[in-house]
Amino acid sequence: MTAPGIVVVGAGPAGIMAAGEAKRRGAAVTLIDEAPRPGGQIYRQGDADVTTSSVGSPQELARKREILDAFAEIAEGVDIHAGATAYAVFPGPQVHVALADHSRVFEADALILATGTGERAVPFPGWTLPGVLYAGGVQAMMKAHGVRAGDRVAVVGAGPLIIAVAAQLAEAGAEIACVTLLTPLRVMARRPLGLWAGRGVVREGMAYLRRLRRAGAPLLEGWVPVRAEGTPAVESLTVARHDGAGRPLMGSERRFEVDLVAMNFGFTANSELARMAGAEVRFDPARGGWLPIGDQFGATAAPGVFVTGDGAGLRGALVAAAEGRIVGAAAALTAAGKGTSELHRELAADFTERRRHLAFQDALRPTLELPAGVWSWATGDTVVCRCEGITQGRLRQAADEGHVTVNGIKRNTRAGMGWCGGRTCLASVAALADRPPAETPPMRPRPLARPVPAAVLARRGP
Ligand SMILES: Cc1cc2nc3c(=O)[nH]c(=O)nc-3n(C[C@H](O)[C@H](O)[C@H](O)COP(=O)(O)OP(=O)(O)OC[C@H]3O[C@@H](n4cnc5c(N)ncnc54)[C@H](O)[C@@H]3O)c2cc1C
Repeated sequence: MTAPGIVVVGAGPAGIMAAGEAKRRGAAVTLIDEAPRPGGQIYRQGDADVTTSSVGSPQELARKREILDAFAEIAEGVDIHAGATAYAVFPGPQVHVALADHSRVFEADALILATGTGERAVPFPGWTLPGVLYAGGVQAMMKAHGVRAGDRVAVVGAGPLIIAVAAQLAEAGAEIACVTLLTPLRVMARRPLGLWAGRGVVREGMAYLRRLRRAGAPLLEGWVPVRAEGTPAVESLTVARHDGAGRPLMGSERRFEVDLVAMNFGFTANSELARMAGAEVRFDPARGGWLPIGDQFGATAAPGVFVTGDGAGLRGALVAAAEGRIVGAAAALTAAGKGTSELHRELAADFTERRRHLAFQDALRPTLELPAGVWSWATGDTVVCRCEGITQGRLRQAADEGHVTVNGIKRNTRAGMGWCGGRTCLASVAALADRPPAETPPMRPRPLARPVPAAVLARRGP
């Protein structure tokens, strides 16, 4: 009897653990990731030919070693494709992948999508200037290439990533002009049990805060960006206190001269492949927008398709690793025609770990919630869809003309039809539609889910 074939897309903590568990249970595993080396976002490795210093807390670096060791253990017996982009999923499940110089179709008995998240932007005047970057992107440049993207930096946004990236930039020698947070960190104290459950990570956060204090970086909580200015690249950022609903309070502005603005207002789940496969979705803005629905084992409504990690809802690397093991095991058993009833007993530690870190993630959640006023930052001429150059004014006009669904606005303006497939502007467009996003479907995912060279598509190979 041949071993069931499991294809895993994504080699972050969720995908690596899922691949390992599926292999351990006798499956023939293929692991696909568009990055050149495994690790995913948080455990991103430096380019093979570049010497980088370690970025991250000592605890995070220890966790990274564990995950990469787990990868090294399975590397022998797993069919690994790095630098490979999954751009479509069809029933089967069948995954279409762009490799270095040709495309290839992988047929699977079960498909595990562990595709993680991308960063969420809230457009404000000047956010498309050179030198205004996503905070996670700034971190990725340090981790992968050993590059510090600026010398005098403003780090702005919502949630704990802002603190981590600001501290990492300070550690790398940048001067931190200011750090602004939409929602004060103390809101997490509303869930003391959740904080207790994640006390190890809380300690890492406190160390980052101490690093910022040592660097003399002003931490402005309850503040938001108003405008970035400069020619041809960013030279200053103006920030202001907000009214509690995200609207800047006139008269409270402060202007900082900077050569880099690093911003992050949360995350958007990379759910296009799962949605293309036919998974049902739910809307949860703080966890990544429209999320594929998986059961406790990650199984979706699409036959043979499983989801895990942040791509199924932002819950952090510790949940991703524990859940990856659960979902890898469940996919292998299901593909082999076996039941999953024993998994609660066999993987009891992983179920407990997932529950514990979910409690901590619930405590973090209010820091990532965006009040409605944040969508007022963009003015009429602020570009919202960067790929197609569509402004807030054009989107507002479409909404005023009665195109109130996300798909309606997309069809009428081209917002979301560019290279990123709507990943960047989806949250902004949804905010302009006059029905709550939960009541209107997301932009329809179409092949290609990611940009792929035409020459690669034209050359189909084994
Ligand atoms: C930019 C960024 C920075 C972050 N920094 C921190 C931090 O400092 N501290 C922290 O605690 N958390 C951080 N996070 C969150 C943390 O990375 C995640 O919680 C954790 O990595 C989730 O693990 P995962 O395996 O679910 O997904 P990920 O680690 O995101 O891995 C997903 C993998 O899927 C691959 N992939 C996605 N789509 C495709 C496709 N179509 N084809 C092929 N491959 C694909 C990606 O290349 C990636 O390697 C960050 C997240 C982001 C997006």
